Amino acid sequence: MECIFCKIVKKEIPSAVVYEDDKVLAFLDIAPVNKGHTLVVPKEHYETLMDIPEDSLSKTVSALKKVSTAVMQGVKADGISVSMSNYRAAGQVIPHAHIHVIPRFEDDGLKLWPQGSYSDGEIEEFKNKIVKFLKE
Ligand code: ZN
Repeated sequence: MECIFCKIVKKEIPSAVVYEDDKVLAFLDIAPVNKGHTLVVPKEHYETLMDIPEDSLSKTVSALKKVSTAVMQGVKADGISVSMSNYRAAGQVIPHAHIHVIPRFEDDGLKLWPQGSYSDGEIEEFKNKIVKFLKE
């Protein structure tokens, strides 16, 4: 079965497109968190953020900024949440990379994730786990 976002990119499935260029498409999510909730996707099929090549990624981020600005102005939002789930464990449902642009309003009742804390020395341990993959 073919990817639903690839079908949207190819216009085989209709969508409410708000932005398009050679590498990126942005369209309204049909099940919005708040009305105006938009998805920004690279046109090529990549599963996650980590799979998108640099050229396509930079165009996606550039479109993300334009779309976020337009959504904020267009629906007179008080703020914008940008969110991207990568892999099923993170809540990714459609395995075609997509970034959510969600208009936010004062007192819209939405909450971010609950936050935890580190025990003594633990933050250093976690920093080191990550940094070793960023060296070179
Ligand atoms: Zn796809």
